[in-house]
Amino acid sequence: MTKQNRSANFSFVFLALIIVICFSWLWQAETRSAQLDYFHVRQLFIQEKVESFTIDSGYNLTMTLREEREDGVKTLRYRLYDFDLFYDDLNDLVAAQSEKGVITSYDYPPPKTTNWLELLLPALLILAAVGVMGYLFLFRAQGGGMGPDRMAKFGTAHTRALSEKDKKVTFDDVAGADEEKEELQEVVEFLKDPQRFLDLGARIPKGVLLVGPPGTGKTLLAKAVAGEAGVGFLSISGSDFVELYVGVGASRVRDLFDQAKKTSPAIVFIDEIDAVGRQRGTGVGGGHDEREQTLNQLLVEMDGFTANEGVVVLAATNRADVLDPALLRPGRFDRQIYVGLPDIKGREDILKVHAKGKPLSEDVDLRKLARGTAGFTGADLENLINEAALLAARKDQRFIAMDDLKQAEIKVIAGPEKRSRVIPQHERELTAYHEAGHAVVMHVLPDHDPVSQISIVPRGQAGGMTISLPEEDRAYLSKRYMEDQIVALLGGRAAEKLCLGDISTGASNDIQRASAIARKMVASYGMSEKIGTVSFDSGHDEVFIGRTMSQGRSYSEAVAAQIDSEVHAVISAAYNRCETILQEQRDKLEAVAKYLLENETMEREAFLAVFDAAESSAK
Ligand code: ADP
Ligand code: MG
Ligand code: ZN
Repeated sequence: MTKQNRSANFSFVFLALIIVICFSWLWQAETRSAQLDYFHVRQLFIQEKVESFTIDSGYNLTMTLREEREDGVKTLRYRLYDFDLFYDDLNDLVAAQSEKGVITSYDYPPPKTTNWLELLLPALLILAAVGVMGYLFLFRAQGGGMGPDRMAKFGTAHTRALSEKDKKVTFDDVAGADEEKEELQEVVEFLKDPQRFLDLGARIPKGVLLVGPPGTGKTLLAKAVAGEAGVGFLSISGSDFVELYVGVGASRVRDLFDQAKKTSPAIVFIDEIDAVGRQRGTGVGGGHDEREQTLNQLLVEMDGFTANEGVVVLAATNRADVLDPALLRPGRFDRQIYVGLPDIKGREDILKVHAKGKPLSEDVDLRKLARGTAGFTGADLENLINEAALLAARKDQRFIAMDDLKQAEIKVIAGPEKRSRVIPQHERELTAYHEAGHAVVMHVLPDHDPVSQISIVPRGQAGGMTISLPEEDRAYLSKRYMEDQIVALLGGRAAEKLCLGDISTGASNDIQRASAIARKMVASYGMSEKIGTVSFDSGHDEVFIGRTMSQGRSYSEAVAAQIDSEVHAVISAAYNRCETILQEQRDKLEAVAKYLLENETMEREAFLAVFDAAESSAK
């Protein structure tokens, strides 16, 4: 017998003992009251048969009779179940008889303190027994140990209701996140009036995933959605589930959704969902049963409710890539919103939000402050303002001066709480020229999709990005289209070299992608004249990046060398074209880079305006 089994058996013996004690106790009370009940006791007093009596703190009434009973008994004991009743009923009588000398002495504790504990004791014991049984059941079911400290965490979900202050959070409190707010507006509309959407048969997302680095306002946005719609907000953090025992996390999830349905329309907010939502079956040693059960329960709950229940689940994470793919399927978190670092304008607006109600001296220039804080999150900026206020208060100033803000900025940059990285100016410049290079080349190339947005705000691994959107769907990729793609991908590197005289590793991904396209053109699509219309592809549509070539290729070393040299030729030709374009458009390149350094993001309209302005001033 194992040690654990023995301790479990012991617990069962203990349990049986408790039950036996309970019943015998009840039984005893029964027999005692059969011998003497309250009615009889009362009779004895009324008939003036009691000479003296005492009631002890356990409400045991001991009466001495004036005369011996027929059976020779002179002292009677009775346990009062309701001392208040006795007191209300007989106190006056006892006082009167005592005055008359019928009762010679008596003593009882002050009234009006019912001994409820004693009354409830059997029930409490039984409850405790049931609790122990449940505890043992769980204990055995999982075959592991569970400390008693865990018991306290049992039961309902530790959801947090919003404080009064949080309830008033609206989109106005979230600055510089216009796109995010726009995307969430639909959820707000739905929660405000679910029926309207249901009548139209509109499909509303059940789950929206907010993805972005810490401190960028994901939690704030979720609260603001609830505030805007004026609905309930139930929140729970994925990290609450970590290190719990089997079944507990799952029951909390169940509970959370039950509560949400009761308060519907409502928002369920799951912060740090990656703590539970990590891909299943990747745990080393398979010791993640609890997390998997919790995740499974979450999936079950999300599938279980329908749109007309008026519940929308928002979740936040800074790592969408580690999430179990099952979470991202349709009907679950099928919509993702990226909540990124704010650009200059965004930072200025966030500073304004947090400076509201704080006395700023006249020399304060929030725009200037915003300019110098590239890489700061909303949380960092809030922190900055608070630090500045503290500094000013310490110096007994009545206003926060620009100096305080500058000093606070340094403090936040150096501070231990700063998780994101501050972007140095030279790096911003490099990124600005790099992205401007992509954009200008894309714009000039005849077969490239038009530029839709440029940004030098870091996002994930990328220092910046230039997005182009096709005007129509393409069923086939033409040779010229693919060539133009390669030229545009090289635009970043070429611009760095042209304008800064140096090149960086920031273009390595561009170059990989360009090479992959070139290789596809040569080896898969038969687009090279030298090699001819031959495909060396196995036919599967493999990943673009040239993994295909290394594995089980069906051609000779000589052909491989020929392919390599052709890929090289395609890239060189593209690079030359790219350089020529940038040299010709140098003034536009400079103008776009300058705009980016000033504003960090650039929409299509602004891009076209800057481009055209540079062109006309060159004439
Ligand atoms: P996350 O959940 O993304 O880690 P939070 O929502 O917890 O970030 O943000 C922390 C704090 O930073 C917020 O309470 C808010 O004061 C401030 N903050 C973050 N982003 C913004 C923003 N866009 N506008 C105003 N304040 C912001
Ligand atoms: Mg948060
Ligand atoms: Zn690039």
